[in-house]
Amino acid sequence: MMDERQLVMPGDILSTTEEYLPGEGTYESGDDICAALAGEPHFDEDNKVASVVSRNKPAVPEIDDIVYGIITNINPKMATVSILTINGGNRQLAVEQRANLHVSEMAPGKNTKTKAMYKEMEIIRAKVTQATPSIQLTTLDPELGTIKAYCRRCREILQVKGQELWCAECDTKESRKMADNYGLAYADDIRNSRK
Ligand SMILES: [Zn+2]
Repeated sequence: MMDERQLVMPGDILSTTEEYLPGEGTYESGDDICAALAGEPHFDEDNKVASVVSRNKPAVPEIDDIVYGIITNINPKMATVSILTINGGNRQLAVEQRANLHVSEMAPGKNTKTKAMYKEMEIIRAKVTQATPSIQLTTLDPELGTIKAYCRRCREILQVKGQELWCAECDTKESRKMADNYGLAYADDIRNSRK
């Protein structure tokens, strides 16, 4: 467990899922609980919940904001995305914001199969096209798309190999709508975008 006075950045590992349950401002990645936003980590010993509290004022996504989110659900028409941060982490969300990514906004060209482009629990970078009454996202541009995907067989983080993603653990190839800088660690990506 880490020091509660220490500030954490999105992607930083707070603890393992064996020690704590993921609370607000966190997400699960394999066996780890990671910070979804920059702030102070809190560890609730009674309920065994790890959470992160932002130091910034809560923000709401606006049109043209670049957001990072986790795909929480995917069906033939769209993906549901839980937004983690706005504009690379310099505007934090106090409450969970859900957004929709419609199939026609996933990748350029005529794509019909949402599950061929994204999978649940992946982290994507997307742009906001509508803020109210519901948040709508697009990942059509080259810099938008998945930035962290997992092997569907063994859950390892996939690596880029040519135009595809590849699992070094079980030698499986998969394809996604990748962001053009896929492979940058999520936290590094956030940090770089703040410079
Ligand atoms: Zn694998």
